[in-house]
Amino acid sequence: MPQAPIQYNNIQNDDDDNYGNNNKKALKYIEDVTSNADEIQERVIEEILKSSAHVEYLERHGLNGRTDRDTFKKVIPVVNYEDLKPEIDRIANGDSSPILCSKPISEFLTSSGTSGGERKLMPTIEEELGRRTLLYSLLMPVMDQFVPNLHKGKGMYFLFIKSETKTPGGLIARPVLTSYYKSSHFNNNNSSHNNPHKNYTSPNETILCLDSFQSMYSQLLSGLLQSHQVLRVGAVFASGFIRAIKFLEKFWADLCRDIRTGTIDPKISDTSVREAVMRIMKRPNPKLASCIEGECMKGSWKGIITRLWPNTKYVDVIVTGTMAQYIPILDYYSNGLPLVCTMYASSECYFGINLNPLCDPAKVSYTLIPTMAYFEFLPLNKMNGGNGHSNNSNNQLVKEDLVDLVDVELGQEYELVVTTYAGLYRYRVGDILRVAGFKNKTPQFNFVCRKNVVLSIDSDKTDEVELQNAVKSGANHLKQFGATVTEYTSCVDTSTIPGHYVLFWEINTHTKQTLNTDKNISSSVFKECCHAVEESLNSVYRQGRVSESIGPLEIKIVENGTFDKLMDFALSQGASINQYKTPRCVKYAPIVELLNSKVVCSYFSEKCPKWVPGHKRW
Ligand code: AMP
Repeated sequence: MPQAPIQYNNIQNDDDDNYGNNNKKALKYIEDVTSNADEIQERVIEEILKSSAHVEYLERHGLNGRTDRDTFKKVIPVVNYEDLKPEIDRIANGDSSPILCSKPISEFLTSSGTSGGERKLMPTIEEELGRRTLLYSLLMPVMDQFVPNLHKGKGMYFLFIKSETKTPGGLIARPVLTSYYKSSHFNNNNSSHNNPHKNYTSPNETILCLDSFQSMYSQLLSGLLQSHQVLRVGAVFASGFIRAIKFLEKFWADLCRDIRTGTIDPKISDTSVREAVMRIMKRPNPKLASCIEGECMKGSWKGIITRLWPNTKYVDVIVTGTMAQYIPILDYYSNGLPLVCTMYASSECYFGINLNPLCDPAKVSYTLIPTMAYFEFLPLNKMNGGNGHSNNSNNQLVKEDLVDLVDVELGQEYELVVTTYAGLYRYRVGDILRVAGFKNKTPQFNFVCRKNVVLSIDSDKTDEVELQNAVKSGANHLKQFGATVTEYTSCVDTSTIPGHYVLFWEINTHTKQTLNTDKNISSSVFKECCHAVEESLNSVYRQGRVSESIGPLEIKIVENGTFDKLMDFALSQGASINQYKTPRCVKYAPIVELLNSKVVCSYFSEKCPKWVPGHKRW
């Protein structure tokens, strides 16, 4: 297997600090692994099976200790989360026998995908942190080919941790990034001394502060204090970066006061955070404070990034998938700086990187790194007539249809299936990818969509079934007034920050009069409907509401007959009348406009839904 560019399980002892050499090693690593993709995949699956040959799951499926790819493909079923839930529950409840993986499960990573309304739990093992670090270590050498000398300045990245909890068996459960930011792989490496590319404006203490207000405030303050050194800005997802800019819009006067006086707002009560920021602040800086104030007082926030951080070369955020909805607002704030999507990853496994980071966001493709896991692909046209929305449990059919990494075809769409070192075997990730090209022998994929997801603002992913159940529970509040929701659809509205879910409801009041809902049903009832819908949505959504990364849900009541007009519109665009189904989520601007033009009244949720850390079963 090609040598990893850095000693990734012992990064802090990496004494090869020759910047250029390290970059070359990383690029060579990419060349090597992409040129030998199939051989590496063969070895990855062998390694995984050798190490876990006798785990209960593989024995149950009759692998009998064999480690070759062909037998694996013949006997191991293709599964989704629900199939593995009994095993995952046993591990969560404290069964430490080798159920899925021979190595000890070090923690659970809580995915933003949900099952039964709760975050999915992905088992992981200690060594996976090394694999994640390896993938991160490839990003800047790639970037350096397009924007050199980034190591001479700083990156202003807004990074956050979320709360963690323990399973009944005592394993920690937390999001993958929280796990990574708290690990020595990140902490020992987050300084220019150890890694010139990890020279962030945010001190570790500000990232590791659980209080989201204090964390955001102190990261922004640190970023403003070092504004002239900043060469790149970003967050993980576009939504997080926009939230930071919105926060600045609200608190710039307080931040400027701190910079002017050389003190920190008392709202920042965490002493380690205060000390870390004071190390940067050093002394009052009235000149810098006035400059920032001057820009923020101008009223328009157009180009605020380049005005406050004038040396910024690009904005590093993921804007592929549902995050594409934020491209216009990012363009506005950054005056059209390049938007760079560097990587594609998940709680299950880190997948790949973008080798052409300055490309148009609409054309981004990710090259899967063949050493991360064993990858297989389910052709979309083989999944229930090609709509990609099945939960096909016919494993016999699926098993034979899977294609290996090097065998995917240009232009085709596939669902990604992974086998990981941590004990997932032929696991359907739920992402739909399209082959956009090849780097040597390794395919590069456009991210098409997440299977079934209809609504998403931040890391929330609401599928059609969850939406349907939530609408049902909201609509229950209308029953006592003899009203029912006869049709509904939804969209996300990102013109507000944070964005929010919008439901369009057509209502039948069982009376002859034309609908004037305000007369028949009071607005407080509709607000209750909004709240009930939110209470029924999954825990990732509710957490987003509580942490204010998602705004209050809105219900818009539309005139009777609106959904007929929607159908007429679809037919006029060539839809077949026999097959027409009301879309449960609309994105196409003319349709959203049509719906908005028929709105009789609209209501927002006035209360936050309940959310507590942890899992409802614990
Ligand atoms: P989680 O398991 O909560 O970390 O979520 C992982 C999921 O986020 C992936 O399976 C994708 O659906 C989505 N995701 C991650 N990276 C990207 C990306 N670069 N572009 C689009 N979607 C992404």
